[in-house]
Amino acid sequence: MQQETLNEPTPAFSGRESLAKYNGRVTVKSLRTGDHRTFAIQTEQWTDESARVVSLLDGPDNESDYTGFGFIQPDGSIRVWLSKRSGTSRPSTWEQYARILESPQAFEGLCEYHLEARCRRCGRTLTTPESIESGIGPVCAGKEEGP
Ligand SMILES: [Zn+2]
Repeated sequence: MQQETLNEPTPAFSGRESLAKYNGRVTVKSLRTGDHRTFAIQTEQWTDESARVVSLLDGPDNESDYTGFGFIQPDGSIRVWLSKRSGTSRPSTWEQYARILESPQAFEGLCEYHLEARCRRCGRTLTTPESIESGIGPVCAGKEEGP
């Protein structure tokens, strides 16, 4: 018999399955460069119907500064918007992002995927790998340490 654990397992980002089901943010860290990018996955209202959209965080506000670049199909694959495609055999940056999100298995050892977390002190969304791991944002971490 398997031993039961008391702790909830940490939810992991699982590519297409997560893209199809999940509303939220995922931060991908390149283990080669140490850089990271944060993406939002969400259902948005488009005129009279809703659409699943993937977007990139490209500003200082990790709640609102996102640029959309593709629709998420029901099977979790990403259809990159025409204006964001290279149109050549060499994929655009957006097409590369789509591939990184669709196929975490293909980027094992190259990229780390972190689902968003909330700061334990103020409840704000945490999107940098360091903050997600420590469970607290940099400003609140400074306050917790005290003067
Ligand atoms: Zn905080």
